Amino acid sequence: MSNASYRNLSYWDGFSDQFRDADIHVQAGIFTADAATDSIGRDMAGGFAIPGLIDAHVHMCLNPKISDPLAQADADDDQILEEIRARALAMVRAGITTARDLGGGAWLELRIRDEIMRGDTPGPRLICAGQPITSVGGHCHFWGGQASNTEQALTVLARQCEHGSDLIKVMVTGGNITPGSTPKDSQFEDEVVVEIVRESLARERHVAAHCHGTDGIRQAAAAGVRTVEHCSWVGDTGWGRALDENVVKMLADNKVWVSPTINAGWRRFRKPEFVDMVRENYRRMKAAGVKLIASTDAGIPNVFHHDLPKALPEFARFADLTSRETLVSATSDCADAIGLGSVTGKIETGYSADFVVYETNPLEDLSVLEHPQLVVVQGREQYTT
Ligand SMILES: [Zn+2]
Repeated sequence: MSNASYRNLSYWDGFSDQFRDADIHVQAGIFTADAATDSIGRDMAGGFAIPGLIDAHVHMCLNPKISDPLAQADADDDQILEEIRARALAMVRAGITTARDLGGGAWLELRIRDEIMRGDTPGPRLICAGQPITSVGGHCHFWGGQASNTEQALTVLARQCEHGSDLIKVMVTGGNITPGSTPKDSQFEDEVVVEIVRESLARERHVAAHCHGTDGIRQAAAAGVRTVEHCSWVGDTGWGRALDENVVKMLADNKVWVSPTINAGWRRFRKPEFVDMVRENYRRMKAAGVKLIASTDAGIPNVFHHDLPKALPEFARFADLTSRETLVSATSDCADAIGLGSVTGKIETGYSADFVVYETNPLEDLSVLEHPQLVVVQGREQYTT
């Protein structure tokens, strides 16, 4: 890792309204106000820099080309580790410098997390949940985190901490990819979710709650989880049709972030009535003060780990966000939500030197995000055209 000064560019800090023309200085992997005496100068030819992108919901161990989740287990650990390394490299090359992994069965992604932190493997900074807590036979039960009551849930939770998980994931409702699991229904009594959050916080870990059904969103919001994943408002009348204003208010009051996992695959849902319904849900959440963060659920069928740049224009469209709002949700806000708000997500003195340079201004056109020229993660240059 060398000290460097990136000149002849303008940069957006991750939260303000516009780009500024100024050099970026990096020393020992951190943004600094001035150049180091041994700083290497880099001419960026009038490029546009923004903080590295953050995906709040990925599964590093899942192969998006395999549609049956049970068939994922056919590969051996060494093969999966190699695949995770390849995914990590593709992610940084795409401009993703941080990602939050929300579940796997064998803690393999934690091993790669540590390799990346040591500088042995190129990739984004990862924070990892390990095995999600789920009900017996519930959503993603095949990952090993099954529990039928509070005591068993806390046993699964303790096991994740022993394995070095950075946060706790809980499947509050059923999901799509698990046969026999129904997205609408809650998997636990209220009390279990409350105890999971209490114990996680006591162990200084956030909780990310998978919730499709409205009742599960209510349970998670009331218990004070950090993020609600998907937040699909599923009820008896179907997908997206059961938004409850009282629950929206609870999300806002308890400062729960919503991570809607809108990926490039959402293009196929672009029937006008679906877009209108989803937009209305996000409009009501936004009006109540609920904040959204960028996430893709990468690893599920056909959602690739490096696809966040492709997903962000879809996210903007479905959630009715400006380009600036979209980029805030994928940088400074996303870092805040996942507990890294004082570490990354901003181009500011003292922050980790995580940034991406593009030829044209992404605040004017998000499609530029698919073509980064240079990606720097923790001061390491990962990709230059
Ligand atoms: Zn997921």
